[in-house]
Amino acid sequence: MHNLHRALGLATTPSTAVTGIDIAKQKPVQPVTLVRPHAAARAARFFAEKFPGRSMYAVKANPSPDLLKILWDSGITHYDVASIAEVRLVASTLPDATLCFMHPVKAPEAIRAAYFDYGVKTFSLDSVEELEKIVDATDGAEDLTLCVRLRVSSEHSKLSLASKFGAAPGETKELLFRARQAADALGICFHVGSQAMTPEAYSNALERVRAAIVDAAVTVDVIDVGGGFPSSYPGMEPPPLERYFETIHRVFESLPVSYSSELWCEPGRALCAEYSSIVVRVEKRRGDELYINDGAYGALFDAAHIGWRFPVELLREPESRSKDMPFSFYGPTCDDMDHMVGPFYLPADVKAGDYLEIGMLGAYGSAMRTAFNGFGSDETVIVGDEPMVSLYGEEVYGEEQPEVASNVVTL
Ligand SMILES: *Cc1c(COP(=O)(O)O)cnc(C)c1O
Repeated sequence: MHNLHRALGLATTPSTAVTGIDIAKQKPVQPVTLVRPHAAARAARFFAEKFPGRSMYAVKANPSPDLLKILWDSGITHYDVASIAEVRLVASTLPDATLCFMHPVKAPEAIRAAYFDYGVKTFSLDSVEELEKIVDATDGAEDLTLCVRLRVSSEHSKLSLASKFGAAPGETKELLFRARQAADALGICFHVGSQAMTPEAYSNALERVRAAIVDAAVTVDVIDVGGGFPSSYPGMEPPPLERYFETIHRVFESLPVSYSSELWCEPGRALCAEYSSIVVRVEKRRGDELYINDGAYGALFDAAHIGWRFPVELLREPESRSKDMPFSFYGPTCDDMDHMVGPFYLPADVKAGDYLEIGMLGAYGSAMRTAFNGFGSDETVIVGDEPMVSLYGEEVYGEEQPEVASNVVTL
């Protein structure tokens, strides 16, 4: 496992020629992104088959067109978009996809273009002002699904989404009532925060939904439990996703909603975290600090800014015999903030010139890259081995494996 061959594969971004890469021989100077289409396909099939309702992909987690196509081919037909640029991106990549505009604060021009130019009919909102904006921008359309976003607790999640959006308990009655009058279908949505570590996050939020429905006495057609489904990271190993699905299903079944009501979810992280990792080079070592060639302004934003820990491996042959010890990382820019505190456990003899793989960066990794200070790299290689960690095991959902897996060079 701990070797250089995991990084062998065929470099194919949609537009570039196929070129082989071999870390040991080619010694890439820039960070290289390894993508694992089979891992994203497996996660998508898992949600498509096991979530007791409809799963839509939250595009912001990783907007790569290659990934969008993999998810589509694996059964994800609906996409949660938050900007007109995401609407255009998904519409041009997947012309038959259904788009839902789930950002509760939108520009009127974006709503108008989404509705009239791209056929978007589902919008979220958390205020009467936004409701009026949507009604105006669609010229009083009568075919809208309007999802009222409730503010719910983020206490069980690693990343809060509780302060910025969502109607507070005192505001939901009037809002639900008015949205009901404007909507063809009325939904209620929420987001429990990203990386929710227990299914109770959802049952607690659904109890808030129940109270809001009873209070407003409206007919609700859609319950959308949002994102927040976890992935596995060092020190953050969640319970199996099936438990989340069971809990959500049980509470949903007991809600006072219409018989034909639908259950939706909006996973971002859980569908794509395992999709990619990066290979970086150690440029310098200073004690227990490693200076690597990607960082806070690259794919490691969360590692730097919120101290997220990612799994790491030394790619060296023969394998190091040294015991693991904790390291922190500095990224390549000239900025003190470009620091990832970790701890990241690596063999004690790691040194300049070594290559490391940093795993689980498919979600909120490459999506966050900038070219600050002249660093940053788009080099991408498809590989067919397993991600460092997986919540989906080796089990294959559905019959088809993406074709690329068979092209991977293995030694
Ligand atoms: C970010 C976001 C998601 C995805 O969240 P994850 O924690 O990545 O699953 C889903 N819905 C909305 C409205 C979001 O803002």
